Amino acid sequence: MVGMEVVTLTGTQNRTDRTGQPYDVVVVGGGVAGLSAALVLARARRSVLVVDAGEPRNAPAAHTQGFLTRDGTSPGELLELGRAEVRGYGAEVRMGRVVSAAAEPGGGFSVRQADGDTVRARRLLVATGLVDELPDVPGVRERWGRDVIHCPYGHGWEVRDQAMAVLGTGQLAVHQALMFRQWSDTLTLLLHTAQVPTDEEMDQLSARGINVVHGEVTGLVVTDDRLTGVQMASREVIAAQVLVVGPRFAASDGVLNSLDVAAVERQMGVGTHVQADSAGLTAAPGVWVAGNVADLAAGIVAATAAGSWTAAQINADLTAEDTARAVAEHRPSPAVVR
Ligand SMILES: Cc1cc2nc3c(=O)[nH]c(=O)nc-3n(C[C@H](O)[C@H](O)[C@H](O)COP(=O)(O)OP(=O)(O)OC[C@H]3O[C@@H](n4cnc5c(N)ncnc54)[C@H](O)[C@@H]3O)c2cc1C
Repeated sequence: MVGMEVVTLTGTQNRTDRTGQPYDVVVVGGGVAGLSAALVLARARRSVLVVDAGEPRNAPAAHTQGFLTRDGTSPGELLELGRAEVRGYGAEVRMGRVVSAAAEPGGGFSVRQADGDTVRARRLLVATGLVDELPDVPGVRERWGRDVIHCPYGHGWEVRDQAMAVLGTGQLAVHQALMFRQWSDTLTLLLHTAQVPTDEEMDQLSARGINVVHGEVTGLVVTDDRLTGVQMASREVIAAQVLVVGPRFAASDGVLNSLDVAAVERQMGVGTHVQADSAGLTAAPGVWVAGNVADLAAGIVAATAAGSWTAAQINADLTAEDTARAVAEHRPSPAVVR
């Protein structure tokens, strides 16, 4: 594992190892946001350690869609390519889980991993993503990312023209049904635990040819490892090859909690996200965020871009600190001033 090696970066003041100088940046989470940030920072000749638990959100999906030039690449392959690229510029990528971080009295952070190892960093970038909290319907978790999906941009094309059902669980059920209608004209909105649509919404659904079914869903009907229908409490089975669900998106803010930063609720009950300024800086000085932990709607491209953008802002912040320190050291001491 590269985490053990000593990396000497020519032209910077940092030699990085596990007990010596702090890393310029420790990136917590090595999904596309974290790796994209590491790439920019390593190319800026910053010493970077990425610690990644290896559970990207899209892992259940066979392919990553909508990423120009990488469309159809598997999530695992995409990250493997990313890790190779950042290592090529001297960044370290270590598989592991960060459990907490603490601000140090003299500035910077100590970052503790689950194996007990602790590293020091001048800046912290948390790119830990989010957790999809799925509706509690038997079978949904097992088929998640295959024929149980949530995002039309990641999966819509692949399931176009198939019989779809939308599982209503929140305020966005009608919106989701109207959206997915773009990809199929055989669509049923299962109200399940969602509110009954307003008259206006009913008109919209009807005008778009979307059936509305009242009652609770109790399970999925699967034949030869393919979804074929949805089981209703009434015992009726609604034919469907695809089930669209609306997970609750919960920002993975555990490490941030140890720094007194907590995710906040988003509108419409869609989930939580960590607030930051437009550069990605949180309320805690020196602690930055990028990707799904801060923006729960970000797909792969947006999360990659956020990592890249925030890395440039962190580098600018470090440059300002390096310059201030150099000026202080450069000034002659009062004793020698005539
Ligand atoms: C089933 C599914 C399919 C999808 N398909 C597509 C698609 O085709 N196209 C598209 O544009 N978008 C797709 N998405 C969205 C895509 O997954 C996200 O946009 C993307 O993963 C966000 O990247 P991220 O780096 O912010 O988070 P992630 O990719 O989730 O990466 C976060 C990383 O941080 C790690 N981590 C978490 N906590 C810690 C910790 N304490 N210490 C160390 N590491 C930690 C995790 O293990 C993970 O590796 C899909 C989502 C799902 C759920």
